[in-house]
Amino acid sequence: MQTLRTLKALEREGLVTADPRLAEAARSMAIALTPELAELIDRKDLARDPIARQFVPDIRETEVAPEERDDPIGDEVRSPVKGIVHRYPDRVLLKPLHVCPVYCRFCFRREKVGPGGDALSATELAAALAYIRDHAEIWEVILTGGDPLMMAPRRLGQLIDALDGIPHVTVIRVHTRVPIADAGRVTDELVTALKPKRAGLWVGIHCNHARELSPPARAALARLADAGFPLLSQTVLLAGINDDVETLCALMRALVSARVKPYYLHHPDLVRGTGHFRVPIARGQALMKALRGRLSGLAQPTYVLDVPGGHGKVPVGPAYLGDDPDALVSDARIVEDAFGGRHRYPA
Ligand code: SF4
Repeated sequence: MQTLRTLKALEREGLVTADPRLAEAARSMAIALTPELAELIDRKDLARDPIARQFVPDIRETEVAPEERDDPIGDEVRSPVKGIVHRYPDRVLLKPLHVCPVYCRFCFRREKVGPGGDALSATELAAALAYIRDHAEIWEVILTGGDPLMMAPRRLGQLIDALDGIPHVTVIRVHTRVPIADAGRVTDELVTALKPKRAGLWVGIHCNHARELSPPARAALARLADAGFPLLSQTVLLAGINDDVETLCALMRALVSARVKPYYLHHPDLVRGTGHFRVPIARGQALMKALRGRLSGLAQPTYVLDVPGGHGKVPVGPAYLGDDPDALVSDARIVEDAFGGRHRYPA
């Protein structure tokens, strides 16, 4: 089986049934589902399958709410040069391409990603690197897109070398779905290309359900970990896919066992046509509280929300420290433990 890229291909594999409304949903974003993820789908329960729901178009994508946006996290307003997003003084995003191994229907860059995506030309990449070189305050460069591990190892190696050659760039971070979605791409050649001589290189893995951590995916992660790259995860909280305690616990434990430190649990962004994936913030906070009582600190992600308009990420709780209702007679605060017990603590 090849990567499924059209509604017809999904139909042939029994993953959708012909419906004219799906064509409209499919037009709004590229389709790609790799064979290794397609094989993990339970075809007897497609409507609830956590893999199918992430990658197979849904007629609800045609419903756009007024608060939804083309550029929900404000990449464009923070882009001084094509391919660069400079939101915080000490770090930039560098987006060399907009191609991914799979296309996630809830993608926060869904208007940008796709096979014909807006890749940087050689001149544009040189200008982006010059911007980084000219800004000595940039300590970390986050390679994202798209998926940087979709680049040919030789080109990726040249890019890593160019960044490694900028003395103030101390950390390079690569955000990728490849080890999960197309593990065979994580070859020795690619691992070698990723290795800077000087800077620290971290790999951030996008993974939303423990079922994505198939044996090939775990082997790819092991190759990266064995090469010495620290691994982090990013998970999007998605209604009906991972918004329950058992699923999140299983995912976080599976990640830690694969040597991936859970990093962020993202509140879903206000992406056009993705209301069916969104979860109320209060639900996310309740889930985080439940995780706190059940998982070791090693397996705890931080629940974050990207403030629309390019204002960056903030943790959105839950809070464990509150005011004391007897504040008039005490200057203590109330701290809540992981099991809901409330205790007075000196302010
Ligand atoms: S892998 Fe990342 S950038 Fe690519 S479609 Fe999925 S969420 Fe978007």
